[in-house]
Amino acid sequence: MLSQSEKETIVSDVSSNQNALYNLLSQLIQIRSYTGEEEKIVRFIRTKMQEFEFDDVFIDSFGNIIGRIGKGPVTIFYDAHIDTVAVNDADAWPHPPFAGKMVDGKIYGRGAVDEKPAMAGYLMAGKAIRSYFKDRELPFSLFIIGSAMEEDVDGYPLFHIIENEKIRPDFVILGEPTNLSIYRGQRGRMELEIATKGKSAHGAHNEKGINAVYRMTPIISEIEKLDRRLPVRDPLGKGSITVSHIMSQSPSLCSVPDFCKIHIDRRLTLGETRESAMDELNTIIRSCGVDAEVSIPTYHGKSWTGQQFDQEAFFPTWMLEHDHPLTIAGLNTAGLVLNEAAQLGTWKFSTNGVATAGRFKIPTIGFAPGREELAHSSKEELVLADLLKAAHFYALFPFELMSILRKA
Ligand SMILES: [Zn+2]
Repeated sequence: MLSQSEKETIVSDVSSNQNALYNLLSQLIQIRSYTGEEEKIVRFIRTKMQEFEFDDVFIDSFGNIIGRIGKGPVTIFYDAHIDTVAVNDADAWPHPPFAGKMVDGKIYGRGAVDEKPAMAGYLMAGKAIRSYFKDRELPFSLFIIGSAMEEDVDGYPLFHIIENEKIRPDFVILGEPTNLSIYRGQRGRMELEIATKGKSAHGAHNEKGINAVYRMTPIISEIEKLDRRLPVRDPLGKGSITVSHIMSQSPSLCSVPDFCKIHIDRRLTLGETRESAMDELNTIIRSCGVDAEVSIPTYHGKSWTGQQFDQEAFFPTWMLEHDHPLTIAGLNTAGLVLNEAAQLGTWKFSTNGVATAGRFKIPTIGFAPGREELAHSSKEELVLADLLKAAHFYALFPFELMSILRKA
């Protein structure tokens, strides 16, 4: 639907704002935005969206910042979470983590990979699309979303927009780092708890008690064995199970404990579900002949707007087909901006896709600059030229998608 020369015009408009793009990312890094403390960055992005003449700009009740361009029937989400994890090792950084410093074609700082570049790219792409199509109708509604609290409750900010704000996308682009590949899935994850009960007694009369820790011991040892035999399912690889915490309760340190609880981190590959992960643990408990209970904990959170929410600690695995129209549109667009065939990949970590693709089955992919393995570390750095390529991608993608949909 866009002619070759129109594509070139939009791309060159983004390129002409190259320095503004890089400065925008630097400004986003300079605004510290730890999870639950996103108000300042949300207000900054709102001002930019208004300045760039987005058609609608608002902050939802959860505290996500949302800007819309166009009002066509195909709804596309561009999502970038704008919260970051904390910095506890400022001395280990090559440059101060909140300076947004640019040196020799790279930018450094917390969020330089995970995932402020996507927001900078979305904003400049949105500006280019809006200014080029000033008086013309667009065939899509493009929602650019800066989502809050993703680092603590992946998926919840988009779950909120779909469920409570009643905006449901047809397609979703995630801005988590993919190093300019098209990513189309991730392992899921869940947390589980197992509790055993015993009977307390004085340590001097331990034969009168039942030790809840001893009841837990065979279960822990079977979980360790289970981790080794979990299946490998490509391209997501193998799931995992880890006992991450153990606690017990007794009337004193000189008594037999009557309660024991373990916390478990479970990564889920293809075919592993909430139910299958629960069943495995119940089978272990039965085989140990122990009376114990498995449960999934609930995360209670509060966003910067004061909204309280609960989220069960289960985040489903998802994977989009390699030949899905969204995957094809992503690969085509990436091919245009990279001048070479784009690669497919998947994330090792979890993303907001657990809500859009995992829960709602809405086609979702990711494309962004930056290397996933640098996220959450003192080594966060980004090649600025890759940010420009990503901004080109974001400016062209909706049009590539529309032309694929038209052919389909
Ligand atoms: Zn992230």
